[in-house]
Amino acid sequence: MSLEFYLEDLKPYTCQVCHTGESTTTKLQRCSLCKVVRYCGVECQRKHWKQHKKGECEKLKKMRNFWIQDAQNIGDKNGTHLFIGATRVATELGDHALAVEMFERAANTNYPIEGGHPNAMVYAAYHYEHGYGVKQNLEKAFQLYQRVLSHSEFGGENWGPACIGLSRIHEEGIIKEDKETGSYSTVIEKNLELAIKYKVFSKSNPETDGDVKYLEQWWNENRDKFMEQIETS
Ligand SMILES: [Zn+2]
Ligand SMILES: [Zn+2]
Repeated sequence: MSLEFYLEDLKPYTCQVCHTGESTTTKLQRCSLCKVVRYCGVECQRKHWKQHKKGECEKLKKMRNFWIQDAQNIGDKNGTHLFIGATRVATELGDHALAVEMFERAANTNYPIEGGHPNAMVYAAYHYEHGYGVKQNLEKAFQLYQRVLSHSEFGGENWGPACIGLSRIHEEGIIKEDKETGSYSTVIEKNLELAIKYKVFSKSNPETDGDVKYLEQWWNENRDKFMEQIETS
């Protein structure tokens, strides 16, 4: 599944009854039995309980437990299995936090790909970049996107999304605040050239015959053309 399709299937956290979304002022609560459906408050939960208790809650609980158990049993030995499990958890149970945990494990499992599962790296990076199910962490997203480039084929399905992610991060840079001293430090410099470079790299380029070794060389020879386009537009 490509990142694009995955994102289309993701459901944001909303109240099962009134569909209020999660925000800084509304923290949704999960049904304590199935840990799947969410409510904005007791009133909506009560309204839904009559219907939810008729098998639905039990079914969701079983499904969730099975998927977690399944991932635990096989997942750590098989990154692909764990990756598929995480995708199911995110899209079908809408549990982004649990999905990120599983994606991260898959990203660090050496089977079937030495160094981790590139799909899982991209998906985890996207969640960290946008704060989806986890606290936003651009530095972590950046590192994961970079790892993808050293683990995936040039022009392959993970290559494009990782380059676009790196481009977005270079466009703004990353500034970190030290909570204790209140001072700011630059983690990643804002760098327009790198932002453009990765945007160009996100599309496979026939001029390099798909060989990643020649990419840097190709960029050095062609960079002025792309930089000019930006400066004049
Ligand atoms: Zn509600
Ligand atoms: Zn329930």
